[in-house]
Amino acid sequence: MLLPNFRDNPIAVAERYINHAMRWEDGRESDHVEDRRGAFPGGRLAVGGCGTIVLAVVISLLTGTSPVRILQLLTGSSSTGGAVATSPGGPPAHGPEDREKKFVSVVLADTEDTWSKIFTASGRRYELPTLVLFTDETPTECGYGSAAVGPFYCPLDRKVYLDLGFFDELSRRFGAPGDFARAYVVAHEIGHHVQQQLGVADKVDALRRRGSREQSNQLSMRLELQADCYAGVWGNQGARKGLLEPGDAEAGLRAAAAIGDDRLQRMSTGRVQPESWTHGSSRQRVEWLRRGLDSGDPGACDTFQGIF
Ligand SMILES: [Zn+2]
Repeated sequence: MLLPNFRDNPIAVAERYINHAMRWEDGRESDHVEDRRGAFPGGRLAVGGCGTIVLAVVISLLTGTSPVRILQLLTGSSSTGGAVATSPGGPPAHGPEDREKKFVSVVLADTEDTWSKIFTASGRRYELPTLVLFTDETPTECGYGSAAVGPFYCPLDRKVYLDLGFFDELSRRFGAPGDFARAYVVAHEIGHHVQQQLGVADKVDALRRRGSREQSNQLSMRLELQADCYAGVWGNQGARKGLLEPGDAEAGLRAAAAIGDDRLQRMSTGRVQPESWTHGSSRQRVEWLRRGLDSGDPGACDTFQGIF
């Protein structure tokens, strides 16, 4: 497998990777996708107490009706009665976002199959995580989640949070289009869930509480690199099943390289400060993703060697 060339012209890279579509359309969709898109439209709701809004959102989640509409029903107001109806909830039913939702559901289902099989083989049970799609921001057990931080996993509610806008960001800003690059993002977050299931996350938390800030960053980095490797393990299994097409894996590697801490830092500050890295450099991320991809074995993902 060829390493992506980081000095490539981004447009040439985009052209090379953009047509590498995974053959996912016929795949099983997961039942564990929670769609909260449009639950907190645009400029937020400015009517009723907090409880009213929470209630509206809960009902909206249960019924799939826009929370703005429910707020209007609850408060007896029309859109002129003070409810700030900035936009109707949710994207159009057959828009490109729903293709993305289906894609994410198929990838999630595939990670469910892969990790359930791996866990069962070692006598464990894999608890299926939930993937929450949201727009802009959403409440989580780990605090308020914002799209600005990118996709994340909350170990307290065992949910992966994803704003689909990140996918556009991925191709626009980082020149990493392609289905596998997107799938890799999901698989990486699922990697954090695997760490939670295996107790790795708890061990790291305990160590982090005792260590210095620098040590804590080091631990975070190892955690991130292991999640990359676990994403690779999933990719390997996908490859075996013929889900991946030539070029998919390379696109994933490019995504890993594109969102390495050094690259993100250089883009935002123009400087690289290794001591503040929490995700690992592009080279490290590619290296660990490759280990997972090549081996298909979570045992090859021991980024904590010598620590525990
Ligand atoms: Zn991560």
